[in-house]
Amino acid sequence: MSAVRTSKMAATEKQILCVGLVCLDIINVVEKFPVEDTDTRCLSQRWQRGGNASNTCTVLSILGAPCGFMGSLAPGRVSDFITDDFQSRGVNISNIVWQCVGITPCACCIVNHSNGSRTVILSDTNLPDVNSEDFRKIDLSLYKWIHWEVFVSKDVARHFGFNSASEAVKGLYSRVKPGAYLICAWAEKGADAMGPDGAFHSNAFPPEKLVDTLGAGDTFNAAVLFSLCNGKSIQESLMFGCQVAGRKCGIQGYDGIV
Ligand code: ADP
Repeated sequence: MSAVRTSKMAATEKQILCVGLVCLDIINVVEKFPVEDTDTRCLSQRWQRGGNASNTCTVLSILGAPCGFMGSLAPGRVSDFITDDFQSRGVNISNIVWQCVGITPCACCIVNHSNGSRTVILSDTNLPDVNSEDFRKIDLSLYKWIHWEVFVSKDVARHFGFNSASEAVKGLYSRVKPGAYLICAWAEKGADAMGPDGAFHSNAFPPEKLVDTLGAGDTFNAAVLFSLCNGKSIQESLMFGCQVAGRKCGIQGYDGIV
């Protein structure tokens, strides 16, 4: 296939739009979790574009799905870093809403290299969210899927008193639109889904060594979306989500998940 034809196809192919948070993650990778009120060195430190919707876009773009991000940013050096990074991944950012008040959120993250745990402190204070006016400006014909919080995370599920993904999807299913699938990932236990045709489960696919679980849930979501958009079944998609998320847990960041 010629390069011209390929690029025309890419230009007309419908995108997946992810709506939600983008922030700066300042990530400290440590050998072991620090003791309070001590002064230690990290193994490495990096700036990474973070936030759930933004991470999901990163993984979709790595998987090869045309995608766009919609969310708020405040102009400044942090948002320059963020938009440069989006562009380097080929993520469409025409739906970023530039706010005149507030600051771009920032998360200080500790990733424990010995067990992969991630501890996040997010400063997300005063940046307004996108609103219905912003949504009215979107050309919906460009998108085949718009993603915001359909999935339920284990943190939210725990908050509602559920102790497993299967309990969560069964217990919360009456709240979703008839016919919808509700999906919940649960770290090393894998993930479950509930839909009109019953309950589904995939085991996790743990890497040889867990090194970085920051963004595992966002990676799972992206891989499930990618698979569903490509016409795969919910069972196949859960399994693909767990496979890609498992690979992500074995590497720092996202490069190398496929
Ligand atoms: P988050 O806390 O980031 O929302 P989870 O911890 O629930 O997300 O993990 C999402 C997915 O990532 C899981 O369904 C699983 O496939 C994979 N995963 C996360 N942690 C592990 C782990 N310790 N071992 C194997 N897979 C994992």
